[in-house]
Amino acid sequence: MELIYQSTRNAEETATASQAILKGLAKEGGLFVPKEIPALDVDFETLSKMTYQETAYVVMQKFLTDFTEEELKKCIDAAYDEKFDTKEIAPLKNINGAYYLELFHGATIAFKDMALSILPHLLITSARKNHVQNEIVILTATSGDTGKAALSGFADVEGTKIIVFYPKHGVSCIQEKQMVTQKGKNTFVVGINGNFDQAQTGVKQMFSDEKLAELMENAGYQFSSANSINIGRLVPQIVYYVYAYAKLYANGEIAHGEKINVVVPTGNFGNILAAFYAKQMGLPIGKLICASNENKVLYDFLSSGIYDKNREFVVTSSPSMDILISSNLERLIYRLAGNDASKNSDFMKALSACGRYEITPEMKVQMSGFYGNYASEDETAEMIRSVYQKTGYVMDPHTAVAAEVYEKYKSETNDTEVKAVIASTASPFKFTRSVMDAIDREAYGSMTDFELVDELSRISGTKTPQAIEDIRYAEALHNAVCEPEEMESVVKKILKIEQDK
Ligand SMILES: *Cc1c(COP(=O)(O)O)cnc(C)c1O
Repeated sequence: MELIYQSTRNAEETATASQAILKGLAKEGGLFVPKEIPALDVDFETLSKMTYQETAYVVMQKFLTDFTEEELKKCIDAAYDEKFDTKEIAPLKNINGAYYLELFHGATIAFKDMALSILPHLLITSARKNHVQNEIVILTATSGDTGKAALSGFADVEGTKIIVFYPKHGVSCIQEKQMVTQKGKNTFVVGINGNFDQAQTGVKQMFSDEKLAELMENAGYQFSSANSINIGRLVPQIVYYVYAYAKLYANGEIAHGEKINVVVPTGNFGNILAAFYAKQMGLPIGKLICASNENKVLYDFLSSGIYDKNREFVVTSSPSMDILISSNLERLIYRLAGNDASKNSDFMKALSACGRYEITPEMKVQMSGFYGNYASEDETAEMIRSVYQKTGYVMDPHTAVAAEVYEKYKSETNDTEVKAVIASTASPFKFTRSVMDAIDREAYGSMTDFELVDELSRISGTKTPQAIEDIRYAEALHNAVCEPEEMESVVKKILKIEQDK
C-alpha cells in the first residue's frame, strides 16, 4: 500500500515519498509528514539477527513505498559501506550505567552522516522516478554538522549543486575547517554574520519564494533540502533506534518487549522526532528524553506548553544544538493538534509573527511521553570530565548534555530500572577544544587545535579519525562571507541567475 505524505500546513498538498524527498519543503513553509506511521510488525527474533543494512531496508521500505526493493537496497548499500569505520555502523557502548549509541562513525564524524550518506542516493533515485530534468540545488543551513555531512554526500554528484550557509562565528574550529576545505566543483560554502536560526530562516524564505522558483525553473534548476525538514533525512534516522533495540535484545540485555528509554541531545528536533516515529511504529520505548543546552527553549516548551523564542541566543560548547527555532517540532505540533493543518498553521503563524505560541491543555497532555531538561555549560564540562576520570571514555559536548540530562531525569523520577540508550551524536575529535578544556584546562589551554587532537588520541587510546587527518593540512577553498539579508543574492550569484542580467 502506498504511503502518502501531507503538508503540515495544507491538507490538500500531498506527495509520494519520492516527491516529498525531491521537494524538501512543502509550500508556504509546511513540512511533509506521513499520513500514518506504519507498524514495524517484524519480530525481534528476526531483527536481532539483522545487519544495519538489513534493518535499514526493513524500516525504510515501510516509509518509502514508491521505491522498488532494488532501488532502495542500492541506496542503502551505497550509503552504509566503508565510509563508516566500523561494520556495525552504529555501535552500542555500555558505559557508566547507560548505552551510548555511537552515531559518529561515518565520513564526517557526527550523526548527520547516518542520514546524509543515503540522502543523495534517495534524491537522485527520486529525481529519476519523477523524470526531473532540472539540476537540483541543495540549499542547506547548518549549525555545524549538517553542512559538512551534506557537502561530503553531494560532492561531485552529477545533476546537483550544493550551497551551505553556516554561522561564521558559531561553529567549532574543526567544524569550520571541515567545511571550508571541501572539494568538489558543485560545492559552495558561505559563512553568514549571524546565527543558525538566521541561516535557517533565510533558507526557508528562499524555498517559499515563488518568484525565485520561477527564475530557477527558467534557468533549469530546482531547490531541495538536506536539512532535517526533508523527510529523506528523518526516515533513515528511525533505523538506528530499531537497530539499537534489536542489538540490546540480541545481547540479552533486555527481555522480549521490554521498554527502553531514549535520551537525545536536541537542536532542530529531528533526531528525537525519529525516535518518536520509531515508538509510533511499535518499538517499545518508554520515555523520550529531550536534552537541551543553555538554549533551553524546548525544555521550557515541554514544561509549560509555551514555545517562546524571544530570548537571548547563547553560543555554547555544543553548537549543533544552538537553535531557538526547532523546525521539526512542527511535525509533532501537527500531530498533537489532531493532524489538523489549519490549527498547526495558526501556531506557526504566531511563531513567525511574535516568536511565540501556546498549545492547548489537551495537546499538552499528549506530550507526556516526553521528558525535557537542560544542561548548563559547567554541568556539561563536568560530565565530560567525570566520565573520563571514572571510565576513560571521552564524549563530545553534545553527548555530555544528554548524559547530564539523563542523570537529572533519574534523580527527578527515580526511573532507574529502565535501560537507557543515549544518542551519542558526535565524535569528541570534532570538539577537541571544549572537550580538552573540560578535562584539564590548565594542561591543555595553550595547545593548538591539532596538538589537542593528538593529545585526545593519546589520553583516550583511540585513533584519530580519518576525517580529522584529512583536514589537518588541507587548504581552505571557500572563504565567502555574507550578511543574513544577502543570502538570496549570494545564491543567485552562485547560480548565475541574477534578474538584471
Ligand atoms: C545536529 C546535531 C544535534 C541536534 O540534532 P537535531 O536533530 O537537530 O535535534 C545534536 N548533536 C550533534 C552533534 C549534531 O550534529
